Amino acid sequence: MKKVLFLFCCVILIACNENRSTKDIATDNSENTADKDSIQNFGIVIHGGAGTILKENMSDSLQQAYKIKLEEAIKAGHSILAEGGTAVMAVQKAINVMEDSPLFNSARGAVFTNEEKNELDASIMDGNTLNAGAVAGVTNVKNPINLAYEVMVNSEHVMLSGKGAEQFASERGLEIVEPEYFYTEERYRAMERARERMNASNKTAYFDPYVNDEKFGTVGCVALDKQGNLAAGTSTGGMSNKKYNRIGDSPIIGAGTYANNKTVAISSTGWGEFFIRGVIAYDISAMMEYKGATLKQAAAEVIQQKLPKLGGNGGIIGIDNKGNMVMEFNTAGMYRASMNKNGTLNIGMFKN
Ligand code: ASP
Repeated sequence: MKKVLFLFCCVILIACNENRSTKDIATDNSENTADKDSIQNFGIVIHGGAGTILKENMSDSLQQAYKIKLEEAIKAGHSILAEGGTAVMAVQKAINVMEDSPLFNSARGAVFTNEEKNELDASIMDGNTLNAGAVAGVTNVKNPINLAYEVMVNSEHVMLSGKGAEQFASERGLEIVEPEYFYTEERYRAMERARERMNASNKTAYFDPYVNDEKFGTVGCVALDKQGNLAAGTSTGGMSNKKYNRIGDSPIIGAGTYANNKTVAISSTGWGEFFIRGVIAYDISAMMEYKGATLKQAAAEVIQQKLPKLGGNGGIIGIDNKGNMVMEFNTAGMYRASMNKNGTLNIGMFKN
């Protein structure tokens, strides 16, 4: 009898192992699943860019317009989480709302390059599987975050760029638009001003930290879902008057976007070159993973100490696997909003 039982167990074990596909093995990050305390917790944070956002420079009606759009975006993501949807879905949805608005430097309201084009970058990461997708320099995709998602789930790659990325977008049936769709008078004029300043200064660089604030306005979202999974995403037009097919941090996993169920989900905004050099999003996660820092401590150290020391400015939003949230920036302001599982909504633009 014992022998029969032993043989039966062996057969079951072998059968189970065979059912486990290569894909399962490749993406299994179950060790990273958040602990049980957070399972029913969920929350979402968004940003619409950091920079010289000052109350005295903004009309009441413009402030109101930003508030309305931020609220619409965060509620769109929050309702997905409340209904049990995934963090990845919530991130994508919230970003779509901001991508479709001319208020933000992302898709519809993207900044112009020195050659008067709009080149869009985006990335998304799933903290459960550590899978990620990113696109850089696309010019005709209505919602670049959707293309980043397609790269993540329907390709063997992590990052696609330019014409190839656009071809992949068509093949995946994403919405393609004419370049005029991205035209906004305000962004065009901002690029002209930046271009004039650059020409007058005889510099080859398009940026100047003291005068060129038109570079800010990226959008991003981080979320924790009811299953305890984290996700992060970022979408941008990059920096106004950029040249040479410059690519910033937003589509770089670890710099502009990072998510890991073990620690945190982060989306960055600011002067991209410094976020790339400081590997800012991953650095916050690494401090939490290896040093045992809290999200609050790690975000403050990286954004208030490390980034300015490098010479950079900007901010991040983050949510950890317990649902703790941060919105940390070293600029005058950052468009931002957060919503926890109770539906408590916080919207901010200025420092205080
Ligand atoms: N980080 C973006 C970039 O450098 C710009 C921004 O966040 O406003 O492309």
